[in-house]
This record gives sequence, C-alpha cells and structure tokens, in this order.
Amino acid sequence: MGKLYVIGIGPGGIEHMSIRAKEAIEESEIVVGYTRYIEFIKPLLDGKKVFSTGMMGEEERCKEALRLCKDSTVAVISTGDSGIYGMAGLILELRKDEEVEVIPGITASSAAGSIVGAPLMHDSCNISLSDLMTPYELIKKRVKLAAEGDFVISLYNPRSKGRSEYLKENLDSIREYRTGDTPVALVKNALRDGQEVTVSTLDTFDYEKADMLSIVIIGNSQSYIKDGYFVTPRGYKL
Ligand code: SAH
Repeated sequence: MGKLYVIGIGPGGIEHMSIRAKEAIEESEIVVGYTRYIEFIKPLLDGKKVFSTGMMGEEERCKEALRLCKDSTVAVISTGDSGIYGMAGLILELRKDEEVEVIPGITASSAAGSIVGAPLMHDSCNISLSDLMTPYELIKKRVKLAAEGDFVISLYNPRSKGRSEYLKENLDSIREYRTGDTPVALVKNALRDGQEVTVSTLDTFDYEKADMLSIVIIGNSQSYIKDGYFVTPRGYKL
C-alpha cells in the first residue's frame, strides 16, 4: 500500500522549506509537479522518478499522483502552501481511498510580508485575481468587501497578459476605503532567485510592474511605513 504526500515546498529556496516537507520528498519514490517548481527542488530529486507537466495539467497531474500512490510513496508538490491555491484541495476532491497527508509550507503572503516588514500583523485576507475558475464579478465583490472590512489584503495572481487591468480596477475599488498614503508592497519572486521588492503607496504604486510571479499586499487603514519597513500595528498602546 502506497501513500501520497501533498507538499507545500515554500516560496522556492530550499532553505525555506520545512524539515517535514524535505523529509517527505526524500522518502518519496516519485515526485509529481509543475515543471518550473520541480526545478526549485532539483537537489532533492536524485534517483527519483519525476512526473512533471505544464501549468494547465493540474487535473492530469493529480490523477496521475493518485494512481501512482496505490503502490508507491508519491509526493505531489505545490509552491508556498499546498492548501492555499495549491494541489491539496484538488487531490482531496479526487481522492477515493488513497492515504493522503498534507504538509504545509510558507505561503507567498507570509514570505513577502517578512521581506517588507510586518504588514500582516492584523486581520488579513488572501484574494486571487485569477478568473480562470472564479467569476470576475465575485472577485471584485470580495476585494471591495475586504477593503470595506479594513482587512490587509494580499492579492495572489495579481496580473497576467490576459487580464492586465484587473489589478488597477481592484486597487481603484480599494482606494474608495483607504487614503492614498496606504502602503502597498509588490514582491516578485519572494525568497527565491530573482527577488524584487517595491514598497510604495496607493498613490504612487505602479501596477504595471506586477506579474504572475508577484504578490501585492495592501495595508489596512492603520498600516504605515517606518524607516522603510511596512508595519500594520497590532494595537499595542506605545
Ligand atoms: N500555493 C502558493 C500560491 C499559488 S498561486 C502559495 O501558497 O504561495 C500562484 C501565485 O502565488 C502567483 O501568481 C503569485 O501571486 C504568488 N506567489 C507564489 N510564490 C511566490 C513568490 N515566491 N513570490 C511572490 N509571489 C508568489
């Protein structure tokens, strides 16, 4: 009887992966993942079978992993956390009687937050701007209500060629509930090769710099920039 690990490998650099995630990959005979993410863990793959596919092959990849794990130990990997826009949900939706263990990882918002300071110190939410599987009207509604609710907002999948203006539209919507000096962080390739960081404000933010390798964090009404650090106060009386 085999086993399937659904592993969040963290943002990219192996040093940011959990010990449990690394051990589970080492224990696995077969590793399944998107080609680009397989590259991140290459040093761990000696002697293992690798099944990788392009981005659109998610369903195919999960089905293959579930088939293979009947008599082998298999790891299916996601970047960041496998339970946050990762493979864990799809695996559990497709699962019949296979043994599955989900192993968490550092998600992009935590990785990016740590780089710019402490923007996620108060209530926050993650919203993906990808409308591949979610109607855009619903995405806009969630962003608007999160802004109205004064959440710190992390925007995943912020900008692609096919939806180059969604980010601007949603920042305009947030702008109705925030002042122009609200901090905005744009972090591309957080905690992996190619890292680029820009901390600006709703007034000065250049949305055209964002792409699918980036995450955008918008502060709440209390967030501020102190000596270059993006801080959201917890509420301590200082
Ligand atoms: N499971 C992943 C998210 C996958 S969705 C996680 O928990 O982080 C893919 C989106 O995540 C990207 O478009 C980008 O917005 C964000 N992302 C993932 N890794 C990132 C990184 N290292 N730096 C910046 N953004 C990242």
